[in-house]
Amino acid sequence: MRALTFIIDPATGSLTVEGLGPDSTSVPPADLLPAPHEVNCARPAAVPPLARSARMPGVCEQMLQVACLYHGSVIDGPGRRSVLQVQGCLGRCSGCYVPYTHDQSAGTALPVAVVLAALLSSAGEPRDGVSVTGGEPFLQPAGLLALLRVLRAAGQHTTVYTGYTLAALSVRPEPEVRAALSLIDLLIDGPYVAGLAEGAGEWRGSRNQHLIHHPGSLPSPSNGACPESHPG
Ligand code: SF4
Repeated sequence: MRALTFIIDPATGSLTVEGLGPDSTSVPPADLLPAPHEVNCARPAAVPPLARSARMPGVCEQMLQVACLYHGSVIDGPGRRSVLQVQGCLGRCSGCYVPYTHDQSAGTALPVAVVLAALLSSAGEPRDGVSVTGGEPFLQPAGLLALLRVLRAAGQHTTVYTGYTLAALSVRPEPEVRAALSLIDLLIDGPYVAGLAEGAGEWRGSRNQHLIHHPGSLPSPSNGACPESHPG
């Protein structure tokens, strides 16, 4: 007997059924639902040629060190996401499930215009927003800011994961960090703590992490505060 898993996204109301094979012809109760269509979670995104994507207006010449790009994720934020996974992290959380993203010299350096063209490709699965995960996005604040500016102008909902706490980010001296925070719709902050993984719920890796909507609208910690820092 085939096991089916039904996932109802609380943000969009969409229903995803996992476990269907190529021989599956119907989903119970199919008579109550719209006609199904196949989805492909984490389908790799095609990286377009530089010459074509570089004509995207309003994008400066910032670069991002990229681990991978993919469409159709249902685990990296609300709804179905196109995802940029950046390369490079100093965190070294015990039990990190993406250790291949740690080395800052690995991955591929891509112009932000190219990353955007891949993420916003109309050839992708239905998209409810764009997520940036890692690695550590805030190790590349200038590239992250350039990316977020275009995504905001394009009306895309943005989710950004970081191993830093918001308190630690709020006292970073680079103006790009605060500007980037002001453009994020949902920040998921804090290091991964394996001992707190159970029951973390949707989108988070461990229970210590916070879902912070519009982090740029929150007041900065007062002077003298001792922000919780990144484990790295
Ligand atoms: S911050 Fe994320 S990518 Fe970095 S070590 Fe921790 S879990 Fe891994």
